[in-house]
Amino acid sequence: MLDLAYDTPKPRVISGAKHDWELVIGLEVHAQVQSNAKLFSGASTTFGAEPNSNVAFVDSAMPGMLPVINEFCVEQAVRTGLGLKAKINLNSAFDRKNYFYPDLPQGYQISQLYHPIVGEGEVLVELGNGLARIVRIERIHLEQDAGKSIHDMDPNMSFVDLNRTGVALMEIVSRPDIRSPEEAAAFFTKLRQIVRYLGTCDGNMQNGSMRADVNVSICRVGQYEKYQETQDFSHLGTRCEIKNMNSMRFIQAAIEVEARRQIALVEGGGEVVQETRLYDPDKGETRSMRSKEEAHDYRYFPDPDLLPLEIEQSWVDDIAATLPELPDAKKARFINDFKLSDYDASVLTADVESARFFEETATGRDGKITANWVINELFGRLKKEGHDISASPVSPAQLGGIIDLITSDAISGKIAKDLFEIVYTDGGDPAQIVEDRGMKQVTDTGAIEAAVDEIIAANPAQVEKARANPKLAGWFVGQVMKATGGKANPKAVNQIVARKLNG
Ligand code: ADP
Ligand code: MG
Repeated sequence: MLDLAYDTPKPRVISGAKHDWELVIGLEVHAQVQSNAKLFSGASTTFGAEPNSNVAFVDSAMPGMLPVINEFCVEQAVRTGLGLKAKINLNSAFDRKNYFYPDLPQGYQISQLYHPIVGEGEVLVELGNGLARIVRIERIHLEQDAGKSIHDMDPNMSFVDLNRTGVALMEIVSRPDIRSPEEAAAFFTKLRQIVRYLGTCDGNMQNGSMRADVNVSICRVGQYEKYQETQDFSHLGTRCEIKNMNSMRFIQAAIEVEARRQIALVEGGGEVVQETRLYDPDKGETRSMRSKEEAHDYRYFPDPDLLPLEIEQSWVDDIAATLPELPDAKKARFINDFKLSDYDASVLTADVESARFFEETATGRDGKITANWVINELFGRLKKEGHDISASPVSPAQLGGIIDLITSDAISGKIAKDLFEIVYTDGGDPAQIVEDRGMKQVTDTGAIEAAVDEIIAANPAQVEKARANPKLAGWFVGQVMKATGGKANPKAVNQIVARKLNG
C-alpha cells in the first residue's frame, strides 16, 4: 500500500490587541446509531413518524418497565470503535445521569460515564495541500437520546414528542487536538465519512443524526506544546462548550466568534468562565446558556436495572472480520491501482456509492480518464439536478461504454459529451447510439482533406491572413469540425490544416 505522508498544519493564530493567540478545540460528536429499534426498547426509530407513535412503555417511563439492551446497538458501537482504530472495552457499564426536563420522562438519561464501551482511538484528518493531522479519540460511549419539546406550535402550550426518546446515540469524544475552525469541520466530515462507510450512523445532519458540541479555548503561543509534552490541561485556557451544532458552516463560524470573544475578554482583564454556550447564527455571536455543571450535579450512579455489559473478544473479532474497506485504505488503493491524484482519490472515495461506481467503471480501463468522466461529467451533471450518485441514470457499464468509444478513437471528445447527454437523458447502449446516429469520428484522412480543401478554396482572404499569422489556423480547424458535425478527428484536422496552409 502507498505511504501517505503528510505535513502537520500550523495552528490557527489570531492576533488580539495585545498578543497572538492560538486555538484549541475538542469535539463531542453525537451520532445516532443506525438501528431499527431503540437502545433499550423495541420501539421503531423511523424518522418523521407521527409524534409519539414510536414510544414503548419503557421509553415513556411507565412504572415497572425495565430496559433491555439492544445487542445490535452494542455491535454498532463496537464496529464504530474498530473503524476509529480504538480500544474496545470488554467490560463497560451504564450509569444514570439525573436531571429534570419535560422531554425526559425517566428523569434521567442512561449513559456511560465511568466505563465507556470504546476507549482511545484516532482519526486521520486530511486538510489538502499535503497537510493532515491525527486527532485522537478519547472515548465513545452509548447513551439514550431525549425527546423533543415543541414550543412554537401554540402561543399558550408546549408539546412533547417522545419518538426520539431512548434512541441510541454514540457520543464520540475527541482530545483537544484540533487547532482551527477548518480542522474542526474536516474532523467532523471525516468522522461522518467513516460512520457512513461502516453503516453505523446515516450521518444525516439535517435530521439531527449527527451533531456536535464544540469545546473552544485560547492559549498563548507555546502553551500548547507544554500541554502536548505533559498532557496537563492546566497549560491550556479554560474552555467553553458550544452546544448542538448541526451544520459544518456554523461549526466553523461559531469557533471563530467564540475565540474572538475569549481573546477580547482576557485581553480586557477578564477571565473565561467554563460554561455551555449557544451559537446564534443570525446575530453571529455565542450566548451563555448555563454555567458548567459538574458530574456530581447529575448524581451519576450505576443503573441498577442494567447489568454491567460484558462482551467476548471473539465477538469483537467476528465484527472486526466484517468491517468494510475504510476511507483511508480505499483512497490509498485508488491512488495506487488507478494512478489517481490525491485530490481525485479523495473526491471518489468521499462516499461508498461513488467509490463503487468509479471502481466498477474504471476496472479494465484507464483510471485517470475514468476519474475525469465520473467527477467532471457525471458528478457535475448530477449536481445540476440535485441528485446524488445513487440516483444516477447512467450506469457504470454505460459510462464505461462511452469511455471505450473515446479511447478506441471511435468518437471525438466533443461527440462524447453529446453522447453522454443522450445516454443521461434517454438511456441506451452507447455503441449502438453511435452506430444508429452516425456519430463515429471521421479518421478517414481523405474525407478530412476534401473538407479542408473546400474551406480553403472558399476563403482566400482568410488563407492569406493565416499564412501571415499561423495562430489563425484554428479558424480553419473550427470550420472543418463544423462541416463534419464535430465528428472529424481533431488531431488529424490540425495536421492537415497546417500542411495545406503551408503547402
Ligand atoms: P466534560 O466531561 O466536562 O464534558 P471532557 O473532559 O469530557 O469534559 O471534555 C470534553 C471535551 O472538551 C473533549 O472533547 C475535550 O477534548 C475538550 N477539551 C478539554 N479541554 C479543552 C480545552 N482546554 N480547550 C478546548 N477543548 C477542550
Ligand atoms: Mg462532555
